[in-house]
Amino acid sequence: MQAKDLNRFKKKLLEKQSELIDVVHKTENYGREADAEGEAMDIADKASSSYTKEFMFSKSNSDRQLLQMVAEALGRINEGSYGACLHCEEPVERKRLEAVPWARLCIKCQEMEEKKLL
Ligand SMILES: [Zn+2]
Repeated sequence: MQAKDLNRFKKKLLEKQSELIDVVHKTENYGREADAEGEAMDIADKASSSYTKEFMFSKSNSDRQLLQMVAEALGRINEGSYGACLHCEEPVERKRLEAVPWARLCIKCQEMEEKKLL
């Protein structure tokens, strides 16, 4: 991959990374505030609040996973292996990288992974 393309993907990844860090921090703060409020709530309120918390928690987990994938993609840029499928080592489709710059697998391998064939 050409350096100017690499730089463009790197920029995209860095933007996504700071966006995600922001979201993950906000979600953590929200969890702490909800805990403090919980003291004064009656049972019905508590139930809906724990539902919300669970939702926020699973959301922050997927944000965290995404953050991890973005960090790994940045690492691959530094190592010079960015853009290659981690499974078959073929280049990941350019269109796919444009849409998902942190993609680890090419479309073929991704489909296989989704079918649990890898
Ligand atoms: Zn592949």
